[in-house]
Amino acid sequence: MEAQPLQVTASYSYEETKKRPTVAVIGCGPGGMFFLHAIATRRRTMEEAGDVKGLERLPDVTVFERSSSPGGVWKTDREFKDYGTGKKKKSDCANMYEALWTNGAKENFEFFDYTFEEHFGALPTFMPRKLVLEYFMARVTRNNPNFFDNVYFDTTVVSVKYDDKLSKFIVVTRDNHSQLFASAEYDKCIWAAGENGMPKIPKAIECLLKSGSFLGKRIHSSNVGNFKEDVQGKRIILIGDAYSAEDLALQAIKLGVERIYIVSRSGLGVASYMSEWPHDKVEVISEVMPSSVIQGGHGIQFKGLEYNCELDKYEIDEDGDTINLLDISTVVYCTGYECNIRMLDEDLRKPLTNYTPYTALPSDWKMKPNMFSELYGDIVPYPSLSCRELFLEIYRYLLISNPNMMYMQQLGDSPLLEADTSSWLLLGYITGDVEIPSPEVMRKLNEKDILEMMDIHSMREKLDANYAEASDIILEDEEGKEHWSTNSLDQRILAYEKEGEKYSLRCNARDMKNSSYPVDIGSFEKLNRKGEQYLINSQVTWINRLNLQKGKHTFRDGDSSNIRSIFTDQVAVPLRKLWLDLKESDYNDLVGKGKMLDNGSRVGLPQVSPTDGMAVPGTVKGKTSESAHRGSAGHGWTVVARKERRTRNQRKLQIEKTTE
Ligand SMILES: Cc1cc2nc3c(=O)[nH]c(=O)nc-3n(C[C@H](O)[C@H](O)[C@H](O)COP(=O)(O)OP(=O)(O)OC[C@H]3O[C@@H](n4cnc5c(N)ncnc54)[C@H](O)[C@@H]3O)c2cc1C
Repeated sequence: MEAQPLQVTASYSYEETKKRPTVAVIGCGPGGMFFLHAIATRRRTMEEAGDVKGLERLPDVTVFERSSSPGGVWKTDREFKDYGTGKKKKSDCANMYEALWTNGAKENFEFFDYTFEEHFGALPTFMPRKLVLEYFMARVTRNNPNFFDNVYFDTTVVSVKYDDKLSKFIVVTRDNHSQLFASAEYDKCIWAAGENGMPKIPKAIECLLKSGSFLGKRIHSSNVGNFKEDVQGKRIILIGDAYSAEDLALQAIKLGVERIYIVSRSGLGVASYMSEWPHDKVEVISEVMPSSVIQGGHGIQFKGLEYNCELDKYEIDEDGDTINLLDISTVVYCTGYECNIRMLDEDLRKPLTNYTPYTALPSDWKMKPNMFSELYGDIVPYPSLSCRELFLEIYRYLLISNPNMMYMQQLGDSPLLEADTSSWLLLGYITGDVEIPSPEVMRKLNEKDILEMMDIHSMREKLDANYAEASDIILEDEEGKEHWSTNSLDQRILAYEKEGEKYSLRCNARDMKNSSYPVDIGSFEKLNRKGEQYLINSQVTWINRLNLQKGKHTFRDGDSSNIRSIFTDQVAVPLRKLWLDLKESDYNDLVGKGKMLDNGSRVGLPQVSPTDGMAVPGTVKGKTSESAHRGSAGHGWTVVARKERRTRNQRKLQIEKTTE
């Protein structure tokens, strides 16, 4: 179809629109919306202050959204209408399921200009999905009646290219109604199409289940619809142990599931740390992979895995034990999401997907004194550092080689808050209020951040294979007492974990300062009282997972009396019933009497022999070199196992093992 010029409309009533940079934003989820909201907020402040020069620097923004309404993954509609054929099509994008509840403290994504208390009244810290959506929609629209005027809904961005000669982005869109294509040029482009934009389904497992004629249902977590039908009285498997698995396991228990197996490769996800599950219905099995379909299509056999450092991947341990999970009705892939970047030209897409390892760590680099210093001395880093969070070609949301390209990434622990702060930062880059360093300086600053991360236990665990291996070892003294590093509840471990979260908040604090975001949580060097409160909020929800008692309690029922709003000081109220007993009709009870209510507009692992498959300091396996654990001799601790610290509480549970 022929490309037609798209009319780019200017929303501002000022004369000098021609001087303003034009910006195309892909996506009207929270990222796109918060960017528009940042502009609206700055504009209002400037208007009030009579800052004409400032107003002239605000950009002309056009947002493209392929679905017919805003909200991104927080919406639940999984189908969109193909206006060409008039038929409903299954969407390939990820949305949340209707009954999703948040897993983190709401206080850590509260907004400075509209608090939860203003909207809902006093509220518990965890929330159902639809109330979160309601909250941020109310926040962006309440002072901005024409908020979505510059958003083209039902318009899919099909390609984005940068034309070096023109110094412009050529953005091609398709109108979902007319199916007509249009093309327009922009000075800047913001990719806000979602880090959680597309469901990630592990191909190898899907092929195995399909080719083995597994008879149960297979779904991705984002496609969970009528979950009751899939789980009530049934035995189910959740593949993956992160937040979706945690929430879906609890939802399934609520809906009367018979038994849940959470299986994962690494055993590092949040669900693997849970100290108890309601009614003992969940069994977490880590470091395993499905190996065949059994029991005439009703069961799945799993085999143990080994991590191959050389290839940076898990492989089936052919000599390992097997586990048979029988009478399985449903398999849910809680395997996360992929970035939705298909519309971007290769050059613009690569920096988001190409996890280039970092190999330039100074040869004399040493970590600051840490929990392993006493045991191993200085652990020598693996020669190349890599992790999902390392984007060497992107500096604070900017493409280093072409800073006109910007990405709404989720780098930290509070994506919604980050979407808001990064919006202010991107706006600052565009208006010139925030300096964009030279490419050389950006690379140097990225390297400085890597050094900072390498000094933080939980960050180094992700980046450095040698360090991760050392941290996966369980040590005992002569009397069989485990070393404190094995205990997730040990204050020293908690302090080390806290450092990782603190780093994420320190980065937020830095962005806030740089972009004059209207909230001060301290600086990159030191968080202030507000920043520390964020940290307390997330630590409390974490500790509540580690401290669960047997019975009906979930982490959502834990003590929340130390969780507070940094804006109002309001303490999170407890749920009025145990979370497992809460029904949808109880939500109104939960949300109290906020303003919006008045106008009605509310909306087993296979048993591993003690030293099997692990790197022992001094007798090194994989990439851990002998020198990596210098100084290990004579510390008085003996290696007893590879650390299954995240799943140890599950070992006592029964696993049906094959005797064949
Ligand atoms: C199950 C789940 C639970 C989560 N829980 C939390 C939580 O508790 N707290 C938290 O802070 N975050 C949470 N998140 C993270 C969540 O991704 C962010 O909160 C937030 O939605 C990110 O916003 P976004 O706008 O960047 O992306 P998205 O929400 O993914 O929005 C992207 C938008 O881009 C549109 N789009 C995509 N491709 C195109 C195209 N080609 N053309 C035009 N438009 C396009 C999409 O339709 C969508 O509307 C959760 C995510 C998931 C999946």
